[in-house]
Amino acid sequence: MRTIDLRSDTVTLPTPEMREAMANAPVGDDVYGEDPTVNRLQRLAAERLGKPAAIFVPSGTMGNLASLLAHCGRGDEVIMGDKAHTFLYEQGGLAALGGIMPHTIPNQSDGTLKLEDIEAAIRGDDPHFPRTRLVCLENTHNACNGAPLAPEYVSQVVALAHSRGLKVHVDGARIFNAAVALDVDVKALVGDVDSVTFCLSKGLSAPVGAMICGDEAFIAEVHRTRKVLGGGMRQAGIIAAAGIVAIEKMTLRLKEDHVRARRLAEGFGALPGVGVGPVHTNIFYFSLTEECPLDGAGLATALKARGILLPNRGPRTFRAVTHVWITDDDVETVLAAMGEILG
Ligand SMILES: *Cc1c(COP(=O)(O)O)cnc(C)c1O
Repeated sequence: MRTIDLRSDTVTLPTPEMREAMANAPVGDDVYGEDPTVNRLQRLAAERLGKPAAIFVPSGTMGNLASLLAHCGRGDEVIMGDKAHTFLYEQGGLAALGGIMPHTIPNQSDGTLKLEDIEAAIRGDDPHFPRTRLVCLENTHNACNGAPLAPEYVSQVVALAHSRGLKVHVDGARIFNAAVALDVDVKALVGDVDSVTFCLSKGLSAPVGAMICGDEAFIAEVHRTRKVLGGGMRQAGIIAAAGIVAIEKMTLRLKEDHVRARRLAEGFGALPGVGVGPVHTNIFYFSLTEECPLDGAGLATALKARGILLPNRGPRTFRAVTHVWITDDDVETVLAAMGEILG
């Protein structure tokens, strides 16, 4: 039986083209800056995001942490959404390892932060207060329905932050999904931000890795923070080679994932006892209403028996994620199974 895995876009394995690029990659010692494939990937990422420089890191989590450590000192404060991945799912690394204080304000359901909430969170110059240094945005927003943040909104946040002497970091783990959903060049989403991270290993299917992009001085600083976090790798071109394929090829097909997510969500929404949230990209959330005879665990078990991996996250809530492995046939199979179980 074929397994249909809707848990996350991180389950994607490297493509055959990636395997071949990995096998043939010229490599060197990247701690000395001598790995030609890493250097190529870094130039490619910087060029694509429209930033002067970029650096390869093992994960999105390290990308965010290394960036925050470069922007902030101990006791400094970062304004971020209360549903930010960096706040919820990165083990509080900014506080644990950086002594950096998160100042959370409410995320709206479209992933934005209200400008007036940001403004109100900025500290005045007073020895009682930590110093506000940074505003973090997330694009697309994982916990807010996979919503993309529009270029105009990002520019408004940057204008406010810069006018108050703050920097802006974007956790763009799925920034290419945002660009596709909004039909804009990815550069438009990060034009005036100070730093951005994005993942190679999610919808882009690389086995490992994330990129940080910013100006030369910032990336030089991240080169230090990455090293202290243990992220200085040696012949990293072996994995960077897959990242090049990820950016050149896999960014071109993300729209398919969005179309399939929408098709799934519409089908789920037509079933009795299912409430579906908005669909913007390749992630959507749904829940089982009171009239549904099954609870979340019951539905997850019934789906798993049919080869469909879609575990519940809360007692009656789910997140579904589409990616390169989910085909049109899989969508039909999942809809038929849901109909059988709940119809
Ligand atoms: C996955 C993710 C990360 C972390 O990336 P890893 O490579 O899993 O460490 C950070 N931010 C967001 C929004 C993510 O979805």
